Amino acid sequence: MAGKTVKAGIMDYQKIIERIAEDVSPLLDKGEVASYIPALAGVSPSKFGIAVATVRGECFTTGDASECFSIQSLSKVFTLAMVMDRIGDALWERVGREASGNPFNSLVQLEYEHGRPRNPFINAGALVVTDCIILENHDPMRDLRDFVRTCAGNNTIGYDESVALSEKETGHRNAALAHFLKSYGNLYNDPGRVLDVYYHQCSLSMSCKDLARAFLFLANGGTDPVNGNIVCGLRQAKRINALMQTCGLYDEGGEFAFRVGLPGKSGVGGGIVAVMPGELSIAVWSPGLNTAGNSLAGFKALELFTTYTSKSIF
Ligand code: GLN
Repeated sequence: MAGKTVKAGIMDYQKIIERIAEDVSPLLDKGEVASYIPALAGVSPSKFGIAVATVRGECFTTGDASECFSIQSLSKVFTLAMVMDRIGDALWERVGREASGNPFNSLVQLEYEHGRPRNPFINAGALVVTDCIILENHDPMRDLRDFVRTCAGNNTIGYDESVALSEKETGHRNAALAHFLKSYGNLYNDPGRVLDVYYHQCSLSMSCKDLARAFLFLANGGTDPVNGNIVCGLRQAKRINALMQTCGLYDEGGEFAFRVGLPGKSGVGGGIVAVMPGELSIAVWSPGLNTAGNSLAGFKALELFTTYTSKSIF
């Protein structure tokens, strides 16, 4: 079946994602689960799910699409959306908007560039965004959780305390980044406080179904097409998509644009979410990662999705 394109006036997304699940099944044991966070080391690499949510309100799922997993860096899109809406352009005085061409947790560039992280999706940039969340919200963890719950239309979403604690105990690189930022005056709160909120945001536990639904506002100019809720303005939505396109997959952003052709964001829990503006958002989950820290089978699944549907933003 591989290689053929599904051409139809109305796409049969259910059929397409089932075909993809079959196609990528040989890849599921090829990646490495993110064992640097001990609480994630035990997740089964054979898990695989896809969910597609359309701006018309449909949802298509296959595999383990309803099972919750650790969203990790996917959370950086939610924190960015919250902060951009609150503080607008002031954010860009503290964080850049260029691809880093480095691993997500790299320290070297931060010194060369005097404590201003390249973009909001590498860990250093995300810590600055989290610092802004703490400055802007009375109860940042509650407000962030509620924001995510509203986007996903699911009031049961919460933090996984065991994952947050596990990362706190082992997150020496993140602690180094936070203190480094502080030394440059680019962190206003105590580094320990910023790290605590950061580890919690990464520990949010969601399913592919939740994530596809929660990212739908980015496919619809900032407005949730299901309930009409304005999550962020049109301009912010366009900008978040642009940042996902250029920086969402770390040093594989070029490869993702080449093979998938959609704005996307990955997390070391094995999730990747991509957005087709005007049409849909798609979340995939497969815990086995490639060497860049992106889901191996998830990446392939998204590549097949844009191949089989003949769609991309390009
Ligand atoms: N919590 C992870 C970390 O900070 C997130 C990284 C990721 O998902 N790319 O290392």
